[in-house]
Amino acid sequence: MKNTKSLSLFEKAKELIPGGVNSPVRAFKSVGGNPLFIKKAKGSRLIDEDNNKYIDYVCSWGPMILGHGNEEVLEAIHKQLEIGISYGTCSKKEIEIAELIIEAMPSIEMLRMVNSGTEATMSAIRLARAYTKKDKIIKFKGCYHGHGDMLLSEAGSGIATLGIPGSPGITNNTAKDTLTVDYNNIEQLKEVFETYPYDIACVIIEPVVGNMGVVKPIDNYLQEIRKLCDKYDTLLIFDEVMTGFRLAYGGAQEIYKVKPDLTCLGKIIGGGLPVGAYGGRKDIMKMVAPSGPVYQAGTLSGNPLAMTAGLETLKIIRRQKDSFYKELDKKAEKIAKGIEEASRKYDIDICLSGIGSMLSIFFINEPVINYEIAKKSNVGMFNKFFHSMLEQGIYLPPSQFESWFISISHTQQDLIKTVNSIKYSFSLLRESLNEERK
Ligand SMILES: *Cc1c(COP(=O)(O)O)cnc(C)c1O
Repeated sequence: MKNTKSLSLFEKAKELIPGGVNSPVRAFKSVGGNPLFIKKAKGSRLIDEDNNKYIDYVCSWGPMILGHGNEEVLEAIHKQLEIGISYGTCSKKEIEIAELIIEAMPSIEMLRMVNSGTEATMSAIRLARAYTKKDKIIKFKGCYHGHGDMLLSEAGSGIATLGIPGSPGITNNTAKDTLTVDYNNIEQLKEVFETYPYDIACVIIEPVVGNMGVVKPIDNYLQEIRKLCDKYDTLLIFDEVMTGFRLAYGGAQEIYKVKPDLTCLGKIIGGGLPVGAYGGRKDIMKMVAPSGPVYQAGTLSGNPLAMTAGLETLKIIRRQKDSFYKELDKKAEKIAKGIEEASRKYDIDICLSGIGSMLSIFFINEPVINYEIAKKSNVGMFNKFFHSMLEQGIYLPPSQFESWFISISHTQQDLIKTVNSIKYSFSLLRESLNEERK
């Protein structure tokens, strides 16, 4: 596959932008090689500057659940463009999207739009601290909640991908208020609560983790967390930036039937434009300025262009709702089945971890239930797999610790080609394992 143009663009980008990218995981650092420069995307396809075509399973890291360039969304954006990009004051669509989100997630009674998932989680935590008058927060190892200072310790996504423990530039004072525990370990969480019974403002969690690869909650884990939060007057924050409108119309909280006090959203609700939101119980949300004292603001928050992209995306899903998610999940199952067959046929140990239209493959022979285990995955195998898929025109997330996303625009041909490519890639993995053994 020719990629001379991408290569030379990357060389130039590296001079101008740190690492040549505007977000770390894009840089292919953990899988090796160079990132592609994309010039066009439509439906399930990406086309790079060298005119290579790829079936895209990154989907802009989740937002493009309808696929790229959905005609209805584009038309709505065009219409809005003509009448204004940002007004800096109120417009009707802010109400419409708030209504749609509140209808979809009963735990949200009131919400505030922001411009990214990072802003949503930072703001939700400030609010939780103000509401409870407590300082400490609990997060889970391998969960990623954006790049806010207090949320970077033992985080997933790029932090996991690059194998770094956190980030310099964060003061000890900030770090000391963040307590981290293992995901899927209720006993550890209990112990932390027992150690600091009066100090925990909130527990923030990805109800289904997507940022250490996909990891699901076991048994009644989320219910147990809910109970502990109630016992200690601690707010429960679900970070559904990835899972909201992805796993079900009402997100992971609909599937697991657990009601958080606050929810963070992003990705899909922006339809591909930069959007986030946080919302929840009215008595808590009323503390946000200007109705309350907790300050939080944004020059471009709720701008009509981003609201239009999100609103149109949600409306399209809502029209079909159950059938939409059934169809999406069926597409994912087809890929999952192909992976399982390939793993059996070529005798390669994997843990296939998926739910709905999110999935990841860990090269490991045990169930992945937390970050500790996820990190034991054979990253070398993943990287070989990644590159062999890329060679065949399949664009996967360039990291072991990220979820693949399936969009509604992935066609049956796409899925068949993907499954065939997976089988071929596994056959190559088998060959290289046999070579090593010799
Ligand atoms: C992507 C993501 C974020 C961060 O959102 P940005 O828009 O990138 O700031 C936060 N939490 C979760 C669970 C995410 O997947």
